[in-house]
Amino acid sequence: VKLGIPRERRDGERRVAATPDTVKQLAGMGLDVLIEAGAGDAAGHPDREYTEAGAAVVPELDTGAVDILAHVRPLDPRTASGLKRGAVTVGLASPSSELPTVQALAEAGATSFALELVPRISRAQSMDALSSQALVAGYRCVLEAAIRLPRFFPLYMTAAGTVPPARVLVLGAGVAGLQAIGTAKRLGARVSANDIRPASADEVASMGGTFIRLDLETAEAAGGYARQLSSDAGTRQRQLLAPHVAQTDVLITTAAVPGRRAPLLVTLDMVQGMRPGSVVVDLAAESGGNVEGAVPGEDIAVPTADGAGHVTLVGLKDPASAMASDASRLYAKNVANLLALMVRNGELVLDFDDEVVAGACFTHAGEVRHRPTAELLG
Ligand code: NAD
Repeated sequence: VKLGIPRERRDGERRVAATPDTVKQLAGMGLDVLIEAGAGDAAGHPDREYTEAGAAVVPELDTGAVDILAHVRPLDPRTASGLKRGAVTVGLASPSSELPTVQALAEAGATSFALELVPRISRAQSMDALSSQALVAGYRCVLEAAIRLPRFFPLYMTAAGTVPPARVLVLGAGVAGLQAIGTAKRLGARVSANDIRPASADEVASMGGTFIRLDLETAEAAGGYARQLSSDAGTRQRQLLAPHVAQTDVLITTAAVPGRRAPLLVTLDMVQGMRPGSVVVDLAAESGGNVEGAVPGEDIAVPTADGAGHVTLVGLKDPASAMASDASRLYAKNVANLLALMVRNGELVLDFDDEVVAGACFTHAGEVRHRPTAELLG
């Protein structure tokens, strides 16, 4: 059984779906691993390392000739239609927003797995790419903020005087938010956070943050995820958050609701109410934005209401890709661990009685199996 690892084609994508380390694991399962030349370059793995690990490096990967194709970003429709019948694909696939590719995969008779759909049960934690990549993003966004802030994060007591610690406010305390809290804490900042899930107060405290309790309903849906607040509750949340936002030096937003546009937590007015020099990093900029006016990949200087300066509003783009080496180390492990459920003695064995295999699969035998995506396709 041939497993192909392509060079990622999307602009700015630096990660790779297999590392030399996972090539050993995959080869150990009896797979023939083919790596497209240069696939690991941006993640710090030259072709030679893959060859040494037991893979064959090919100048161009013939994606129509492999039995399994593992990728990072969603495939393009052309690659999908060119797949061998019965081929398996594994990667981040965002099926609901990549409809032409999903259609092409189904028509090609591919069996496709989206890492985003891996059920979040304990047995599948080692395959949870949302968590592994959110960890990277949560760490990274604090560094992006720190470098733009004209102040220290830690408290310094020096002969020349005392420097107070920076105040960091994190909104949304899922995997990324909790990592942001931990990272800001390690840099010495005073950190507070808010989330709408009932469990989050303890989680924030365990990372060393102070939980901000708002007089608001909690909002939890199935599987421990947040549900969308009503429009009234959303407005109220913004009002209640405004004084906390105005007092912070750094604001980091990571709020998301599965399958929805990111909730708007901070209006432009609230940003303008911050002190000059403050920094806002919106990790949700690519999925609609938690902060009004954030643009993915851009720094925007927002004039403060007092006219004394500006706030730097950062729309983060591809934060995990910016740390391609460790992001790939974790991602490639997630991929290999998921494949381990499907390969026995070098053969593909798809067991749809396994809830992880069934849950992650979105096309099989010509059909779209992910219900929300199938509904969108009509
Ligand atoms: P996510 O990326 O979907 O959302 C990020 C955070 O935003 C969540 O904590 C959510 O509650 C919060 N949020 C949504 N709307 C908000 C609002 N209006 N105001 C403030 N915060 C808001 O979440 P995630 O990081 O994927 O984690 C979601 C849940 O899944 C958590 O309970 C986490 O502990 C759990 N989880 C479980 C596993 C597992 O068991 N394997 C793995 C990862 C995460």
